[in-house]
Amino acid sequence: KNAGKNQVTVFDPDMRAARLEHSRLTTGLRHAISRQELTLNYQPVVDLNTGGITAVEALLRWNPTGDKPVRPDVFIPIAEETGLIIPIGLWVLEQACADARRWYEQYGVYVTVNVSGRQLRDESFSEAVLAVLRRHELPEQALVLEITESMLLATTSAETQRLISVLAKLREHGVRIALDDFGTGYSSLAYLRTLPVDILKIDRSFTTALTDVDHRQRTRAFTKAIVELSASLDLRTVVEGVESDDQASMLQQMGCPLAQGYLFSPPTPAARIDDFLRIAPWQEAAA
Ligand code: C2E
Ligand code: MG
Ligand code: MG
Ligand code: MG
Repeated sequence: KNAGKNQVTVFDPDMRAARLEHSRLTTGLRHAISRQELTLNYQPVVDLNTGGITAVEALLRWNPTGDKPVRPDVFIPIAEETGLIIPIGLWVLEQACADARRWYEQYGVYVTVNVSGRQLRDESFSEAVLAVLRRHELPEQALVLEITESMLLATTSAETQRLISVLAKLREHGVRIALDDFGTGYSSLAYLRTLPVDILKIDRSFTTALTDVDHRQRTRAFTKAIVELSASLDLRTVVEGVESDDQASMLQQMGCPLAQGYLFSPPTPAARIDDFLRIAPWQEAAA
C-alpha cells in the first residue's frame, strides 16, 4: 500500500487478480439486497444444563446469483470498507427481528445480531434499531447486539466514549449487548470493568485449546477463571465453538451456562430452527 508509484508490484499478477476479485465482489455486493442474494442462518445457543435452546445467533450468508457462496470473513470487510454494511446491517436486523418474533413469543428464545463498528458509528443507529423492533412489535428484550472490543478501540477515546454511550442508551431501552470473541483482544479485562454489556461470549480459540495437548492445563484454569469472573459480574457467559462432548462437559463442570457450536448445530436456515423448537423434548416436559 505504501509502495511508490513505480513499484513492480503494481504488475504482480497475483495482486492484480486479487484486486480484480475485490472489485468484482464490491460490484456484486452493491446489488446483493435487490437481487435477494442475502439470507440469514441461525445458530442455536444451548443451555448446557437442560440442552434447551435459549437463543439463536443470526449469521449472514451471501449467495451471488450464478456463483459460489462468498464467506462472511471475505464480504463483511468489503461491506465495511464501502459503507454497504449500513443498508446490509439494516436488512439483517429487519430479517432477524421478523424471524425472532415467533420464536420469542412461543418459546422465549431471543435473537443475537452481529454489529459492525461502522454501523455503531452511524448517527442514526440506535433510532434505527428501536424502529425495527417497533415495526415488528418485538420487545427490546428479544434482541441482543453482538459487538467486539476492537470495534471500540479503533478510534479516539472521545469517540470510544460516544460509542459506549450509544450502547448504554440502547441498553436503557432493554436491548442487551454481548461482547463477542472475548479473550482475543489485548485489553479484554480492562474493558469488562467499564463496558455496558450483559453477555460475554468466550472466543472459540479457548474451546479448541481446552482439549489441545499442549495448552490444556493453562487453558482450563484460564477459562474457569473467566467463567467465574463473568458470573460474579452478573454477566451471562456463552462459550463459542463447542465441537465435542468432552468440551461441553468440561465447560458445564466449570459452571458455564450457555454454549454454541457444531456439536449442537451449525448455523442453519430459519425453518430448521422452527423444527428444532417444535420437536424439542424439554418443551414437552415443561408443558
Ligand atoms: P462470530 O460472530 O464470532 O460468529 C461465529 C462464527 O463461528 C460463525 O462463522 C460460525 O459459523 C462459526 N462457528 C460456530 N460454531 C462453530 C464450531 O463449532 N466450530 C467452528 N470452527 N466454527 C463455528 P461465520 O458464520 O462464517 O461468520 C464469521 C464472522 O462474520 C462472525 O463471527 C461475525 O463476526 C461476522 N458476521 C456474520 N454475520 C454477520 C452480520 O450479519 N453482520 C456483521 N457485522 N458481521 C457478521
Ligand atoms: Mg457473533
Ligand atoms: Mg464470536
Ligand atoms: Mg468471530
